[in-house]
Amino acid sequence: MAKLNLANWIDSTEVEGPGKRFALWVQGCLLKCPECCNPHMFDIAPRTIVETREVLTWIANSKYEHSIKGVTFLGGEPMLQARGLSEIAQGCKEMGLSVVVFSGYTLEYLRKNPLLGVSELLEFTDILVDGPFISEKPEHNRNWVGSTNQHLHFLSNYYEKGIEFDKKYSNGIELRIFENGIMSTNGWPSSIDL
Ligand code: SF4
Repeated sequence: MAKLNLANWIDSTEVEGPGKRFALWVQGCLLKCPECCNPHMFDIAPRTIVETREVLTWIANSKYEHSIKGVTFLGGEPMLQARGLSEIAQGCKEMGLSVVVFSGYTLEYLRKNPLLGVSELLEFTDILVDGPFISEKPEHNRNWVGSTNQHLHFLSNYYEKGIEFDKKYSNGIELRIFENGIMSTNGWPSSIDL
């Protein structure tokens, strides 16, 4: 079993892909897109190091407690930790959960430059959202996508093509306030009219 370096995770969210999902953010990204929502996840430095076996336990608990339909990997850059994430994705498929991955690298680039574990991760991925975030090209029509250059690749038949336009899915932001007063947000700020 591999280990992962995680920046954050949420047991159940409805704004990081279709339906209720477990979302997991990995630490470290080399692309450093200007105006990325998560610059604190750029550094390739230890944050929370955890075995994939343990993460699968969290996901199984979330399926039991929250009836999640799938998992989403974001970052940071998931493809830099593809080996560990492929173990998670395989375990999720065995639980009947869908897998959505957001990568700053295009699918074409990934196929030409396979990083360790990438082909295995793609094998268990239902939707890959690819490409860097380009702040000059904000996306306002599709669910879950930050900029118009980014594409959804349906790598399995789990979801019907076109769900990125389906308004039945949530595409806003979620706000959480914890007992200690700390507040956190996640989701897609560009989808909100300010
Ligand atoms: S690839 Fe994603 S995580 Fe990395 S800098 Fe770009 S938007 Fe941020």
